[in-house]
Amino acid sequence: MKIRTQVGIIGAGPAGLMLSHLLYLQGVESVILEAASREHIESRIRAGVLEQGTVDLLMETGVGERLRREGMFHEGIELRFGGQTHRIDFCELTGGKGVAIYAQHEVVKDLVAARLTANGQIVFEAANVQLRGLDGARAEISFEKDGLLQELSCDFIAGCDGFHGVSRPSIPEGVITSYEQAYPFAWLGILAQARPSSVELIYAYHDRGFALHSMRSPQISRLYLQCAPDEDLSAWPDERIWTELQRRFTLAADWNLNEGPILQKSVTGMRSFVAEPMQFAKLFLAGDSAHIVPPTGAKGLNLAIADVRVLADGFKQFYESGSTELLNRYSEICLRRVWKVQRFSWWMTSLLHRHVSNNPFEERRQLAELDYVTSSRAAAQTLAENYVGLPREPY
Ligand SMILES: Cc1cc2nc3c(=O)[nH]c(=O)nc-3n(C[C@H](O)[C@H](O)[C@H](O)COP(=O)(O)OP(=O)(O)OC[C@H]3O[C@@H](n4cnc5c(N)ncnc54)[C@H](O)[C@@H]3O)c2cc1C
Repeated sequence: MKIRTQVGIIGAGPAGLMLSHLLYLQGVESVILEAASREHIESRIRAGVLEQGTVDLLMETGVGERLRREGMFHEGIELRFGGQTHRIDFCELTGGKGVAIYAQHEVVKDLVAARLTANGQIVFEAANVQLRGLDGARAEISFEKDGLLQELSCDFIAGCDGFHGVSRPSIPEGVITSYEQAYPFAWLGILAQARPSSVELIYAYHDRGFALHSMRSPQISRLYLQCAPDEDLSAWPDERIWTELQRRFTLAADWNLNEGPILQKSVTGMRSFVAEPMQFAKLFLAGDSAHIVPPTGAKGLNLAIADVRVLADGFKQFYESGSTELLNRYSEICLRRVWKVQRFSWWMTSLLHRHVSNNPFEERRQLAELDYVTSSRAAAQTLAENYVGLPREPY
């Protein structure tokens, strides 16, 4: 069976779904092909921090109703080190901006619901997706659904299929240059049925390694511990995890980390990655398919949304005027933000993690940097404006 559409989108993560939603609002047709089931993508535990710009976009485009009701709006974070805690006041430092805590799978649920209510087409469990004719007159995507081979013919393809997807590898060899950095540590993350122990996120630097206190709802805590990239989860029974978290967060005084049943455990590796350019002929890469950041700056989802805003504007211009001027500059426009976000994510990671190879000089330097960030308004403001999200630049 052959289907035609204007924009074929591969992947129903935040990037693919938001792009399809924005295109719908602009009167541009799209079809999303997603390898996983609806249940799977709507329950996958990933990110949870939304920048101010992401929150505003979800609200402005009519998919922020539940976010408005159930999201937790934060005006700052705590940095803990040397037995003391320091608050970075985003709201005061950025002229009123903040972040929202709202789980990525809730954003995905809201966007899937919006697309399906508007009769948008999402093909779940699309197998063996293959891209062809990227530099021809029409791009083709073949896939299998319920064992039947199908073809989607489109003007353009948006590769929103994450780091391990099929889009980036479909670009001919030699077109893309990859920039990559691995980190010698990972995060052991848990989701726990425990009331958050603080109203805001706590980033802790400790002799035993980094720890992050976050949350997904008023009843669910999300906590992370710095660990080795090849950490064996079976060596971490629940009790050991809680003991280690208590050590890394607890201050001498009366602060207490709430504990509860652990609902999920995982080890997440850390990587910085950028593919340049983010376009080849009719294929545009967006989100994790083009770049990965270490999670310390809470930027992956937000960067995916920033990409598709530019891409949607490019398609709008094309379908309204026939001009490809903006589409031709898509990669250049996105990469400016991508590299600034890479820089911030790398900096937050370097600032807060314990580096095994550090010599005593490096340790003192790292503590001095934490001291500087928490005692200089200029330094705190730099952290704050990046964390809440850099403003969109005109293009
Ligand atoms: C533990 C963890 C914590 C994180 N915390 C944060 C945070 O706090 N803040 C933040 O901003 N970011 C965070 N991130 C990063 C964030 O989750 C990602 O950057 C985000 O999911 C990127 O969205 P995306 O749409 O580009 O890709 P994805 O969400 O990966 O979506 C890609 C989709 O494509 C589908 N797909 C893949 N291959 C194919 C194929 N061949 N055919 C069809 N479909 C395919 C996948 O099933 C998936 O649904 C975190 C990530 C992890 C792992």
